[in-house]
Amino acid sequence: MKNITVIGSGTMGNGIAHVFAQRGYKVSLVDLKEEFLQKALATIGKNLDRQVSKGVISESEKEAALARIQTFTDLNAGVQTADLVVEAATENMAIKLDLFRQLDELTPPAAILATNTSSISITKIAAATKRPAQVIGMHFMNPVPVMKLVEVIRGYATSDEVTKTIMELSKDLGKVPVEVNDYPGFVANRILMPMINEAIYSLYEGVAGVEEIDTVMKLGMAHPMGPLQLADFIGLDVCLSILRVLHDGFGNPKYAPCPLLINMVEAGYKGVKTGEGFYKYNPGSKELVVSPRFIK
Ligand code: NAD
Repeated sequence: MKNITVIGSGTMGNGIAHVFAQRGYKVSLVDLKEEFLQKALATIGKNLDRQVSKGVISESEKEAALARIQTFTDLNAGVQTADLVVEAATENMAIKLDLFRQLDELTPPAAILATNTSSISITKIAAATKRPAQVIGMHFMNPVPVMKLVEVIRGYATSDEVTKTIMELSKDLGKVPVEVNDYPGFVANRILMPMINEAIYSLYEGVAGVEEIDTVMKLGMAHPMGPLQLADFIGLDVCLSILRVLHDGFGNPKYAPCPLLINMVEAGYKGVKTGEGFYKYNPGSKELVVSPRFIK
C-alpha cells in the first residue's frame, strides 16, 4: 500500500487525506471542483499548523505531508495508480453507486475500494462492482486527525484478506480499528442514533430542556458532549437520514425519527452548519447558547 486516492474533499475527505499524508502515503485527492480542493488543502494546512504549534509534528514534517497530496478534478487521472481508494463523497446512494461502478472500471484490478459511508449498505455498494470481495467500509470518525476509531465494515462478500489488510492499515495510521458486519447503521450509528432520537423525544415531550438533557448525559454518563449538542455537531439532516436507514432497514418502529427532528430539518435548522439547531452558534464565539426556540 503506497498510493491512496481519497474521493471527496469535504469534512471527512480532507481529514482522511491529512492522516494518510502525515503517515507517509502518497495521496490523490479528488473532488468535483478545483475550489473545493483548494479549500480542503487550506483546511489540511491549518490543521497541520495546529499540530506543529502543539509540538506533535515539526514544520518540515508538515511541509512533507502537504507535498505528498496531489489534487484532481478528473476521477480517471486520480485513480490510475491507486492501491486503495477511500470514497468520502456526499452521503447519497445514487452518487456512491455511480462512483463505485466507475472505480471498478478505472482502478487497477488489485485495488481495494473502501467507503467512509455512515449508513449506506457496504454489500449494496459492493454489488455495483465486479470485485465485491475487495469492497469494504472504512468508517473514520470526525474530526479524523483526532478521533482514534475506525469502524471496519465487512460487506457480505468482503474477503478475509482484504479485511485483514484494512485492519492493519488502520493500525499503521495510529488508529484503533474495530471489525463489524454490514447491517443497518453498523455499530456506531445503530447505538448512537437511537440515543440522540430519544434525547430529542425527551425534549419534544417536555420531559426536560436542552441544557438539562445534555447535562444529565454529560455529568451522569460521562459523555464528553450531550446528545443534543452532538446532534448539532453531526448535522440534524445527517442524523435524520441515518435514522431513516435504520427504520427502513430493520422495519422496526423503535427507530422512527422524532417529529421535532423532521420539522427542524425541513425548516433548515440543521445544527452547527446552518448556525442553529438545539443551540445557536455565533461566529467567533465558543460559548454554548441554547436556541431561543427552546427557552420558555
Ligand atoms: P461533505 O459534504 O463535507 O463532503 C462531500 C464532498 O464530496 C464534497 O466536497 C463534494 O463536492 C464531494 N463529491 C460529491 N460527489 C462527488 C463525486 N462524484 N466525485 C468526487 N467528489 C464528490 O460530506 P462529509 O461530511 O465529508 O461526508 C462524506 C462521507 O463521510 C459521507 O459518506 C458521510 O456519511 C461520511 N461520514 C461523515 C461524517 C461526519 O461527521 N461528517 C462522519 C463519518 C462518516
